[in-house]
Amino acid sequence: MDVKKETIGFIGLGIMGLPMAKNLIKSNFDLIVYNRTKSKTKELSELGARVASNPKEVAENAKCIITMLTDSPDVEQIILGENGVIKGIQANSIVIDMSTISPKITRNINEELSKHQSSLLDAPVSGGSWGAIEGTLSIMIGGSNEDFNTCLPVFEAMGKNIIHTGSSGMGQTTKLVNQILVAGTMNAVAEAMVFAAKSGADLSTTIEAVGGGAAASWQLNTLGPRLIKGDFDPGFMIKLQQKDLRLIIESAQELNVAIPGTSLVSQLFAGLLSQGLGDEGTQALVKAHEQLSNVKARI
Ligand code: NAP
Repeated sequence: MDVKKETIGFIGLGIMGLPMAKNLIKSNFDLIVYNRTKSKTKELSELGARVASNPKEVAENAKCIITMLTDSPDVEQIILGENGVIKGIQANSIVIDMSTISPKITRNINEELSKHQSSLLDAPVSGGSWGAIEGTLSIMIGGSNEDFNTCLPVFEAMGKNIIHTGSSGMGQTTKLVNQILVAGTMNAVAEAMVFAAKSGADLSTTIEAVGGGAAASWQLNTLGPRLIKGDFDPGFMIKLQQKDLRLIIESAQELNVAIPGTSLVSQLFAGLLSQGLGDEGTQALVKAHEQLSNVKARI
């Protein structure tokens, strides 16, 4: 398949999917799109994309189909369910799932697609809504070499750090590794700011001093200044982070791996979810530490 000459299907036009689809149009790809809430297709339709009335219709009209949905059951439903992609799929199609979902369910979906002479690339992303808008996402890809090479121009329209990490499911596994690192680092930043606040340190100066050394991280340098200003608008929402931590905990149980640090962070996020803070950004993790130590880490 010469993917540049193909129509690309795009399903799931949320915070991430909409700007990613716009970047495909900017790179001159022809698009057919579907979204459960139809109003979100309007902008793309105005940019020239065709709008399908269900995922089956997308698959009937495109041999390279991208999904960007919330969780494992949503991807299963859109690909394998009633009026799903698989009901309209043409032989030799490639489905690219860019959602963050379970590696095990990813491999099951790939198996089902292989019965229709088609396949799945799992290609979850990191880089947040900013990376989706700028086209600078990191993309971690599992699946065959051949499919990876075929779809590379599609990935290049949406991302910068594009790495083939192994066979089916390995893109999702790599993303879960990413989320262990991201959640643990966010927790360290929140804990450090509460410690600094209770010690009477100037929080802005503290971030400036430690953010240029070995403690530097995206969480500290980008989210730290927002956190101390009390800006909890989401780049990445707590409820999605907690979904990813659940995927990590499920995988770790299957593998018999101990993940004490990640489990602790998940418990703190659970407390914030029970307070109705699921739509806030992950930097709001500081609120859990503030409650434990009875101090506010704000400037
Ligand atoms: P979002 O804004 O909530 O969008 C989710 C999309 O999936 C919407 O288009 C929604 O349709 C659709 N959807 C969900 N369940 C569905 C179902 N059962 N049937 C049909 N459509 C369904 O989420 P997002 O932030 O774009 O995240 C998408 C994925 O990317 C998630 O797996 C997330 O973990 C991952 N991710 C997000 C970020 C980030 O910073 N936001 C960063 C990296 C990775 P409706 O419009 O009808 O609701």
